[in-house]
Amino acid sequence: MKFAARISLIKPSPTLAIQAKANALKATGRDIISFGAGEPDFDTPQNIKAAAARAMEAGFTKYTAVGGIDELKDAVIAKLQRDNGLSYRRSEVVVSCGAKHSLFNLAHILFEEGDEVLVPSPYWVSYTDIIYLTGAKPVVMTTKEAEGFKLQPAQLEAAITPRTRALILNNPSNPAGVCYTKKELEALAEVIVRKGILVVSDDIYEKIMYDDQPFYTLASLSDELKRLAIVVNGVSKSYAMTGWRIGYIAAAEEIVANVTKYQSQNTSNATSIAQKAAVEALNGPQESVAAMGREFQKRRDVIVARLNAIEGVKCLNPQGAFYVFPNVSAFYGRSYGDKKITNSAEMATYLLDESNVALVPGADFGHDDHIRLSYATSMALIEAGLERIRQALGKLR
Ligand code: PMP
Ligand code: GLU
Repeated sequence: MKFAARISLIKPSPTLAIQAKANALKATGRDIISFGAGEPDFDTPQNIKAAAARAMEAGFTKYTAVGGIDELKDAVIAKLQRDNGLSYRRSEVVVSCGAKHSLFNLAHILFEEGDEVLVPSPYWVSYTDIIYLTGAKPVVMTTKEAEGFKLQPAQLEAAITPRTRALILNNPSNPAGVCYTKKELEALAEVIVRKGILVVSDDIYEKIMYDDQPFYTLASLSDELKRLAIVVNGVSKSYAMTGWRIGYIAAAEEIVANVTKYQSQNTSNATSIAQKAAVEALNGPQESVAAMGREFQKRRDVIVARLNAIEGVKCLNPQGAFYVFPNVSAFYGRSYGDKKITNSAEMATYLLDESNVALVPGADFGHDDHIRLSYATSMALIEAGLERIRQALGKLR
């Protein structure tokens, strides 16, 4: 069958593909430990589930306004004021079916052929493909491990051309757990304002930060930044609500109006009862968020220590999100039997075949020397999985 050319521009999401593969292998009875997709293993907090159940019982099961119910927009507005010191009106907020959908909509109303969109690497797997689908070109700015994978202002400036439309900045970042300090963001902001480019600020991991480091989003730094920066966030990660599919954008009215128009011709509104659940997530008690954060920090401490205890593995200490991105390139060139490891894809395959551990090759995030492990899984599985990895790596000669 003939398909539109655009579908060959992209690959299936590698993170979701690994997760699907791990689940399929588990279903055949294989004892797989998955460090694949980044999704909290905690259940959605009870108060949030109860709000959805109430909504369903009350018959809140029909189409809603395309861009989200006023109650949810107000909850988002209150959250942005409370957490980020940002003021928005309802006309500056639009709710979509997950932050991935928010990013997709945004890309499609902003970017087109001839445009360049700046993406620091390592980057989340979906940014580049979302950009390709608009006809624009992702311009990858490779950050250095020795600089904590942080985008440097001079590097940003050097990448900007007359074709540059926007920078996508993910803070805290997937996969390296990079968190920018206020000072570092101010240094990037100076370039952004001087050059007048837009910034898509993907804040989805905002609530998962460690060692008491405070979170800042670019839009909160100045009025000028608020004009240029588009806030993207959602409830998936903070409230263990990945399956509910609620994300949102806060931005200038004309951006929000165009996203809403675009969404009116693709998904219409996000699920009605999930919107009610998101209202409770944002307005209700926040203790569960802090409790999950404390648990993630304990797991980070264990997984980073275990990885660095393996000779040849080098792992930075992430400051946020729930991923580690260790450098395993010391093993490239080594073999076990007839299996030779020369890159991150072969390493991921080897670890899956040899030790029943699923993880994502670093190449999918733009860094082939690395692999990504999600530690949004239990401490027992982290301990067991790391022991398997240690043994499998120990067999390589
Ligand atoms: N941004 C980043 C960096 C992510 O890792 C994810 C992961 N799902 C998303 C956005 C999208 O999240 P969701 O669509 O579940 O809101
Ligand atoms: N964002 C998560 C990850 O990177 C979930 C899967 C996805 O949407 O990519 O694993």
